[in-house]
Amino acid sequence: MSFRNRLRFEHQLAALVGLLCLALVGATVGGAIWLERRSAVRLAEERLERLAGGMAESLDATLRERFREIQVVAGLALLRERWTADPAAARGVLAAMRTTAPDYAWLGFVAADGRVTIGTEGMLEGVAMNGRTWFEAGLTQPNVGDVHEAVLLNRLLHRAGPEPLRLVDLAAPVRDAAGTVIGVLGGHLSWDWASRVRKRLLETAAPGTELWVLDRRGRVLLGPQVGAVPFGPALTGGMVERGSGTFAVELGAEAIRAGFASAARGERAEIAGGDPALGWIVVATRPQARILAPVHRSIRPLLALGAAVALVGVVLAWCLGRGVAAPLRRMTVAADRIGREPDATTLPHLDHAREFRELSASLQALLRRIGTAERELSDATDRSTRVAAFYRRQIEALRQVAGTDMLTGLLNRRGFVVPAEEAFAIGRSGRGAAVLVIDIDHFKRVNDEHGHDAGDAVIRHVGALLAEAVRGSDTVARFGGEEFVVLLVGLGSAEAVLIAGRLCAAVRETTVTHPGGTIAVTVSIGVAMVAGQDADIHAAIARADAALYDAKARGRDRVGIAPGTGGTERAA
Ligand code: GH3
Ligand code: MG
Ligand code: MG
Repeated sequence: MSFRNRLRFEHQLAALVGLLCLALVGATVGGAIWLERRSAVRLAEERLERLAGGMAESLDATLRERFREIQVVAGLALLRERWTADPAAARGVLAAMRTTAPDYAWLGFVAADGRVTIGTEGMLEGVAMNGRTWFEAGLTQPNVGDVHEAVLLNRLLHRAGPEPLRLVDLAAPVRDAAGTVIGVLGGHLSWDWASRVRKRLLETAAPGTELWVLDRRGRVLLGPQVGAVPFGPALTGGMVERGSGTFAVELGAEAIRAGFASAARGERAEIAGGDPALGWIVVATRPQARILAPVHRSIRPLLALGAAVALVGVVLAWCLGRGVAAPLRRMTVAADRIGREPDATTLPHLDHAREFRELSASLQALLRRIGTAERELSDATDRSTRVAAFYRRQIEALRQVAGTDMLTGLLNRRGFVVPAEEAFAIGRSGRGAAVLVIDIDHFKRVNDEHGHDAGDAVIRHVGALLAEAVRGSDTVARFGGEEFVVLLVGLGSAEAVLIAGRLCAAVRETTVTHPGGTIAVTVSIGVAMVAGQDADIHAAIARADAALYDAKARGRDRVGIAPGTGGTERAA
């Protein structure tokens, strides 16, 4: 019997439905979570890309505005004379510029010879700018230089904190009326401006969000780890090429999702003469774990809901299984009682469903057929019992007939066997058993003189006389012809001889009445005791026979005693 066969139906059904529910719930929850994860990641990436784009746009707008401003002011005809002739007025203009755009750390005019003639708040005035990229390039065209640490201003501005002053240089040539370059208008835009934009955007961004500004080679200009190259050259190259988009990357040991956008690209067109476009890349990142956290938080209630559904399913299945199994169990109990308990004869009628109705009808019909077969079998058994008893009686009768002498009704030789063995056992045990062999004298003459029927009558008479004379425990058998054997048990030889003598006398003293007249007969008797050394009863019979022969020889109508028997010979 397998494990499944031992389980009850409702348990099997409940287990099956439970597993099914779990599988369904597992698949549904798993699928839902997968979809949720996917959409959460997509949404986050879109947001990150938008955030990066927003920052890039903001940086672009400011940088473009400042760049235009520098060019416009450098080209102002009103100021053309004043750069050299009225430094105070020009300084006032620069101061006003700085007031409207406080992101400028410094604004100044560098004369064509490289010396600063005008600086905001007089800073750097007199300092030589020869060799500085922005100045040298500014002599020929407007340009924007990438972020770098301030060398001179850092000291002058007494900045607090460990962060060094970092600047973006803007420069444009200043020409006289003839178009000859007389100097360069330079502006150092503090990179703090970008930091502020970043901070403002991060304030409203989702927790864990990070904003980075990278240069074209992937080096961090703004963000955590300034100066590092966190995204590698291949990824950076891809970002430069694509301009905007999303990606996933392992940062440290953390899986990160990112959106990016290029900034300061528009400057490429405006910066003539092959000056490298800045091409900053703004990257917005967020750890994947943070993005997926709400999804993962929803797993538990989803699983609980699934488990509840599975539980309800199991309970319903159990109830259903019980509904199906209970009537079957009642049927089983009823069927089990039939044949054991006398009043249990019928099966319950099931009508829960068509199959049940049909099953109970079939079983009822089967029960009826079994009842009929049982009755038939019982009848046949009765008949065979009666026949067997009849034959037993017949056999017993036959056995008796076989052991009985037809003429006298005494035992014959066959019937003699069993009592002879018993008498032999008694004689051997020392309790005394005697064998008497009795023969009718001159019987031939009876036959000859009175006829055979008279002879039969004589035999019957002698047999009856002998049977009457002995005790119930003794045995009388006709051994054939006119010869009888008598077994006497539980007596000694003297007693046996006495009885033999009495039998002899009884025959002598009676006559047989026959239609032809009255017949008188005598018998001779040989007596022997069963002895210890006898092999069987026939040894004793043989000795009695010899004694009978002796009695005949000595004149008949007398008892002959076998030698060693004890007792005295007695003549008639
Ligand atoms: P003895 O005194 O020596 O015994 O002489 P007996 O004439 O009895 O001699 P024996 O034993 O030779 O004769 C027995 C006779 O008994 C022989 C047979 O014809 C006769 N006989 C044997 N069986 C039956 C029987 O069933 N009925 C009748 N009527 N005669 C029988
Ligand atoms: Mg004889
Ligand atoms: Mg005889």
